[in-house]
Amino acid sequence: MRHASSTRVRGKISRADTMYEPGDNSIKVLPTDQEIQSEMHNVIDISSRILEANKEISDVLLEGDMALPKTRNAMKCLNDYCKWPKSPSRSVEVPYTIANDFYSNEKAVIESAMKSISAKTCIRFVPRTNQVDYLSIENLLGCWSTVGRSGGKQQVSLSVDGCVSHGIIEHELIHSLGFHHEHTRSDRDQYIRINWDNIPQASAYNFQKKDTDNLNTPYDYNSIMHYGRTAFAKQYGKETITPIPNPSVQIGQRLEMSNVDIQRINKLYDCGEHISLIYYK
Ligand SMILES: [Zn+2]
Repeated sequence: MRHASSTRVRGKISRADTMYEPGDNSIKVLPTDQEIQSEMHNVIDISSRILEANKEISDVLLEGDMALPKTRNAMKCLNDYCKWPKSPSRSVEVPYTIANDFYSNEKAVIESAMKSISAKTCIRFVPRTNQVDYLSIENLLGCWSTVGRSGGKQQVSLSVDGCVSHGIIEHELIHSLGFHHEHTRSDRDQYIRINWDNIPQASAYNFQKKDTDNLNTPYDYNSIMHYGRTAFAKQYGKETITPIPNPSVQIGQRLEMSNVDIQRINKLYDCGEHISLIYYK
């Protein structure tokens, strides 16, 4: 069950109204029939946890936790604008702010997740000074992010009711770096079967393939960006995603970035160059 948060003094909780595109009828509504109970969190996957946290939100999200992007496919972006730029030191600085209504222990979890990405890549999350483009980490409704750099103040929602955990924060930050969900990548049909019969029509868009640049990295069942096998199921326990040819492969882990997740960030941002400058020159 959700813990009561009424005793906490919080800032204004509002929807990300700026994410709406007036007149855009393609905006989808999240399902309200999520099957996952929060007491099962120790055994369920990251996607189910995110979807559980997001179930009260409607209209603003794509694929459960991606805000309507200004750049529709960050992994293939013209002129690289959707990537965060390299600094003169060859690292990639991603400025951020964290809203004041997180408790200090929650802020520590968020910053620890940032450091876990920095420790294995050339991404450096830096407290914002006066940068124009930055992540604004806020306690809004649900867990969600835009994919890639959108320009200006870019909200990342980490609701204190279900989103402030290491794996979920990594997942949302990786969206903000430019990555879509693994189960939507362009070659996914060789690795998973989508069970359309188990998916309500209103949720089918969550499973549409994207024209992604897969950076010559293997399809990764263990990616923290992979949804679990019952995400958006019509009925409790029905599989919407089944790995092939081996249906028993685990998917949807929520613990931490996989090696391939790390490899991909390093490829997208040419971090190898950075590493060689630091360690071999
Ligand atoms: Zn996501």
